[in-house]
Formats: sequence, structure tokens, C-alpha cells
Amino acid sequence: AASLAQWIVRRGTVTPESVALVAAETGERITYAELERRVARRAAALRELGVRKGDRVALLGLNSTGYLETLFAVAWLGAITLPINFRLAAAEIEYLLDDARPVVVVHDDTFAALAKEASGARTLVNNRELGQTEDRVEPEPTGPDEVAVLMYTSGTTGRPKGAMLTHGNLEANAVNVLTSGEGILPSDITLTVAPLFHIGGLALFTLPLLYAGGTVVVAGKFDPQETLALLQREKVTVHFMVPAMWAAMTQVPDFDSYDLSRLRYLLCGGAPCPLPVIEFYEGKGLTFVEGFGMTELSPAALVLESAFVRSHAGSVGRPFLHVEARIVDERDEDVPTGTVGELVLRGPNVFAGYWGLPEASAETMRGGWFHSGDLARCDADGFVTLVDRKKDMIISGGENVYPIEVEQVLHRHPDIADVAVIGAPDPQWGETVVAVVVPAGDSLDGDAVIAYCRERIAAFKCPRRVEVVDELPRNATGKLLKRELRARYTDSAA
Ligand code: ATP
Ligand code: MG
Repeated sequence: AASLAQWIVRRGTVTPESVALVAAETGERITYAELERRVARRAAALRELGVRKGDRVALLGLNSTGYLETLFAVAWLGAITLPINFRLAAAEIEYLLDDARPVVVVHDDTFAALAKEASGARTLVNNRELGQTEDRVEPEPTGPDEVAVLMYTSGTTGRPKGAMLTHGNLEANAVNVLTSGEGILPSDITLTVAPLFHIGGLALFTLPLLYAGGTVVVAGKFDPQETLALLQREKVTVHFMVPAMWAAMTQVPDFDSYDLSRLRYLLCGGAPCPLPVIEFYEGKGLTFVEGFGMTELSPAALVLESAFVRSHAGSVGRPFLHVEARIVDERDEDVPTGTVGELVLRGPNVFAGYWGLPEASAETMRGGWFHSGDLARCDADGFVTLVDRKKDMIISGGENVYPIEVEQVLHRHPDIADVAVIGAPDPQWGETVVAVVVPAGDSLDGDAVIAYCRERIAAFKCPRRVEVVDELPRNATGKLLKRELRARYTDSAA
């Protein structure tokens, strides 16, 4: 096992002159040798601020090469990085800081004011200043079971929970990504535009690429057009984004004028991807790979490798090399092939528990298996199809309705730009299916939307009500906040 700090000290497999990081905004290129020097210096600056093994260091900033330098510097000291979602309000950040109790809050220029507001009496330091020290320190010996990153979950279903990810977890994830069908090679170049404070941005492909000795281009902000320009300019070969970003990029008017011929494959995960979005990229001759991951799984768990995209469309594939998956019933017994149950997983990528929440940790880790809270079914060849989150399932008139299935139907409706399907309490049916839609044009006929569904799926799955809105509530990585929608439509039930 190699701790994070060892990943960037390349002796042998990669020459020190290989480029590790590229700053998208300035074009600055940082070799592995230079990265190691910078990390050792930043580590010295952090130690000067009192950071010791096991301490938490909060990191609040846009994606940048300096962000990654500091993350490795924290690991260099055997300390724990606490990435902070900068889209949270100051009070929400304060809650995370009270929970994780970092000794230092590192921020960039953009979030200096937010850091100050959220941090109270805590030590604050600008990330730029950490880079100016001339001293250096030696790396602290760190074992695979020690925590490297305290990554909060997305907070889609409730308050975010701090997932303790160890050096061993992140290494297992890197090995998994490297050994998947498409894999990762030292010659690969990725673009990190998904936020680094989210496990997808950090560990798909950023950390595995650095583990492999590849090159990571880091971009501070997501703009669909800019991203296409960067993919071309930097000759990017592998690229991860979340569905909302992939969807936004399909809207770039001159998409075809960009040369994407270097892209070996695109990876999408973190939320269900609308099928028309996948078809858009496949229609451009690109290889679009879907994966299933969770913060608690560091995050990669299942992948539909390109060889199976056609034969198993709609599936999220099979487990990575070091992951085992099962589908179980309420008594944790295997369900028959093809039956819906809870997806449970096991492997060296499974986290060390939720920070400060021993009961929640024990509740998810039962019998040595991590319980995902996601419903899925598995075919005879081991391909898993994700059905929906347990918490989002609707029970209407005694029938189970899985909102994602209904959403996928509505994503194909030409007059619908975006959609969320939720259950609203109903005196007669227990719950009733409600579609909350963003129209593509000026108007939308709700009855026609219901009729459209009736032609395609069973009547009990069809929405009984259609609510038209300008925008759907989403979190930082574009996930639908269904709990907000449910709260909104619970009282207005007709
Ligand atoms: P919280 O746990 O705080 O409610 P979250 O579960 O959204 O938030 P993440 O760890 O970022 O936080 O996301 C994991 C979840 O994302 C999975 O449990 C699953 O519901 C969903 N997900 C991930 N990949 C896919 C995918 N390919 N298709 C559909 N859903 C996915
Ligand atoms: Mg979750």
C-alpha cells in the first residue's frame, strides 16, 4: 500500500519531468518533481500553523492546482483534508466546521469573505500564502487505514454526513479505475472541472490519474463552451462529469467545431443520466461510459464498460476489480435474479465510517456489507440496473413506482427541458405520482404530458398531476433535491 503522499513522489514508473498538473486558466504546467517540491513546502507551512497527524484541515476554494497541492501537503503530514462545498451558506459551513473541528481553514481569494464569516475564531490562511514558504518537511509515515480525506456526502437526502476515506480506500479506488475495461494509462490526460469538494471531481479521474502518473488539467469554473475548448486545447483523453454538466454541454451551438478526437472515453456518474444525453454523445462517435458511485465507496463501484454499452443499455454495469456487489431483501438475504432489492457492496474501497456518527455507520455496515440505500436489480450476467433510491420510491395504491423510470420517459418528451417525479400524499392512493416539469418552450399542456406517459408505461406509474416550474432545485453537483420538492407539494395537494 502507498499513502497519498507517496503517489506523487515518482521514482521509476514516471519520469520526474512528466507533467502532473496543468492550470487551465494560466496554462502553467507542473511536473511531478515540481509538485513534490511544492507539496513538501506547503506541508512545512501547514506544520508551522500547528497541523499534526490526524488533524483536520478545511479547504474552501475553486478547483485549482494549489487546491490539489494543499490536499497532498495535508496527506504528507498524515493529516486529513476536509473539502468544503463553497455553494453552502456560511451557516451551513459553520455546521461542518463545528462537526469536523479543523485546526486550520484554508481558503482561496474567491472565498476569503465566506471563510471569514463561517470560521468564527478558527485559524484562517489564504492558500496562496501556503505556497510561499521556502522550508520543507519530510513526509510522515502513514498507514493504509489512516484517514486521508473527510468527504461530506452530497446532502441529497438529508444533512451531509462526513465519510472517512482512508489512504487505502483511495488507493483501492485508483486501482479499480486503472483496471476497468477502458482503464487509465500514464499517457492519459484528464480535465477536472467537476468540483474537487465532491468525491466525483476528486477521485474520478483526478486521483487515479495522479496514481497512474498521468496529467490532470484543473479548471476553476464550469462553462460548457469553455470545457469543450479545453478538451480540444489540452488534448484530453479521459473526462468525468456529472449528468447535469454533460446535459449542459449538449446545448453548445457549435459543438461539432471542436476536435474531440483524443477523447478515449467519457465517464458519467453520480446521478441518473437522461438517455437522450447519452445518445447525443454516442451520436458524435464518442464512447460514453456510465458508472455508479457513492462518497462512501471512494466512490467508484460499478461500471458499464464500452464493450457492453449496446448489449446492456440502461445498466450501470458490473463491479470494479476490488468490489463485490449483491442485491438483498429486508432480511439481508439475496433476492432472485432480476428482482428489485437493496444494493449492498463490499471491498477495500468502502469507507471507514461516518465521522462522529457511530450509529449511522453501524446501520449502513451490516454483516460486513455496506448498505447503499439504492434499489437495484441484477441480471444473470451480473449487470446491475439501478432502480431508484429507497427514500424516493413512491407507493401508490399498493404498487411501487420508481420515479427515475418515469423521468426517463419524460426526458424524451420534446416539450420538456427538465423533470422530477415525486410522490405526494393522497387520501385515496396513499401517495400519488406528481411530475414537476420545466417546459422547453413557452407553454406545456399537463394533460398531454399525462397522455404521453399513458402510451408508454403502466397507468399506475403515470403522473396524475403535472406542476410547471421555471427551474428545479438542485445541489452543487446538479442532483435533484427531491426532499425540497416534496415539502413544496405536500401541502398544495389538490
Ligand atoms: P446524501 O447521502 O447526503 O443524501 P448523496 O447520496 O447524493 O447524498 P453521493 O455520495 O454524492 O451523495 O451520491 C451517491 C448516490 O448517487 C448514490 O447512492 C445513488 O443514489 C446516486 N448515483 C450515483 N451514481 C449513479 C448513477 N450512475 N445512476 C443513478 N444514480 C446514481
Ligand atoms: Mg448517500
